[in-house]
Amino acid sequence: MRYTARLSNWYIGNPHTLIDSLLNIFRGRSKTEAPQAKLVTIPRDAHSISRKQINPNAIKVLYRLKNSGYQGLLVGGCVRDLMLGIEPKDFDVATNATPEQVRQLFSNSRLIGRRFKLVHVNFGRDTIEVATFRAAHDPDTSHHTIAKANDHGMLVRDNVYGTLDDDAARRDFTVNAIYYDIADFSIKALPQGLKDIDDRVLRIMGDPEQRYREDPVRMIRAARFAAKLHFTIDEKTSAPFQSLASLLTNVSSARMFDETLKLLLGGYAHETFETLDRLHLLKPLLPATARAIQSEHPFNRQFILQALNNTDDRIRAGKSITPAFLFAALLWPDFLEKRTALINQGMPEAPATQKAAQIAIMDQVKYTAIPKRFTLPIKEIWDLQWRLTKRTPQKALALLEQSRFRAGYDFMLLREQAGEPLDGLGDWWTKFQAVDEEGRTKMLNIKSNKPKRSRAPKKRPAASSD
Ligand code: ATP
Ligand code: MG
Repeated sequence: MRYTARLSNWYIGNPHTLIDSLLNIFRGRSKTEAPQAKLVTIPRDAHSISRKQINPNAIKVLYRLKNSGYQGLLVGGCVRDLMLGIEPKDFDVATNATPEQVRQLFSNSRLIGRRFKLVHVNFGRDTIEVATFRAAHDPDTSHHTIAKANDHGMLVRDNVYGTLDDDAARRDFTVNAIYYDIADFSIKALPQGLKDIDDRVLRIMGDPEQRYREDPVRMIRAARFAAKLHFTIDEKTSAPFQSLASLLTNVSSARMFDETLKLLLGGYAHETFETLDRLHLLKPLLPATARAIQSEHPFNRQFILQALNNTDDRIRAGKSITPAFLFAALLWPDFLEKRTALINQGMPEAPATQKAAQIAIMDQVKYTAIPKRFTLPIKEIWDLQWRLTKRTPQKALALLEQSRFRAGYDFMLLREQAGEPLDGLGDWWTKFQAVDEEGRTKMLNIKSNKPKRSRAPKKRPAASSD
């Protein structure tokens, strides 16, 4: 907060002197292209970002670049978050060195990407992403050989290199066109970006429609940042969402899966989901979920929001999250609807469960390519919802040993939390796990002596154990 307050006083108090006298306008921009963005410099003593707040591996990368004669700057979200007093999620570096040059500087690095060539410098499990300054894609110049748009105007290759100012113009939002320069520890940002950080406004760089056509993912990034940072989205920035949302279906389903995880595993899933819904961006991402929450059954929305809240709580508490659980929740209402329809057509329950699961998942992977390692657990979590009702001695004990038991049990608790009446099933399993062998035997026997329950109609008689 300290940084913002200082910058804010400065900027709002002296809008002209800020640019004209106190700040240097960055020099060295390309002469052939009209610059879209002019960065201003905030010297070291006029901001409060210190090296102590920066990932030591990122610092190493920056110094190695600098000592090798290249520019090295932190860029984007990490600088933005430090300005806002938020701990950054990752640290990205921008440089004038080409990816090949960067690759040569770090033995622990590899070149990645086709659409955007990048270098990942690896320090154990920590990765610092290094990107070369990019320039605008200009179809009238020879650049078209290294930048390429498809029929939808979407950039399928974007490897035109440029200056720092060019790079700023290519960033998605004004608040992300921000740098921390290791050469003099200054911040370089757009005046509009600084103002937007102060006002907590998310504003797309350049012409909104053109920028979304180039990369539709920018629309869902807007929803993510608005939710995470509690920013309002500038009106012109969100105006094209409704009409352009369907462009998201042209983005590869593999990238969409990654983006969906970023949306939902950042610790702000509930807020992000509501924002996507409000901005008409849910349908091209999770069509069945978008449909389910519109239904007359308030349970659907309640259940999904409960799942997202639980995810957020777990992430904030540092607990693990599996995308399988999350997708199982998002697709649960659709799966149930499909299952019921099959049963109504006369299919027995077990094959109906299997078939409905298969169709529900198949429908979703067209939009977000859920990897196989997650689709199987989704089906198992769903299947367990019926198996958990069968509390016979053999089955109950075997279920506890099942690798997916915990996820299935948590999922059932989630259904109860969202208001589904499950006749105390959650409590029963909670207790069953907690008690010792004797207690379990007792619980199973007590149950077997009880009159027939509606939830578990076909119970076998309990094996007598004493
Ligand atoms: P966070 O890491 O908190 O999710 P971020 O802003 O750092 O947010 P990243 O995905 O890490 O987001 O990207 C780093 C930077 O790269 C962004 O701040 C932005 O400047 C730029 N960027 C990322 N994706 C795009 C895009 N699709 N179009 C234009 N610029 C982008
Ligand atoms: Mg980032």
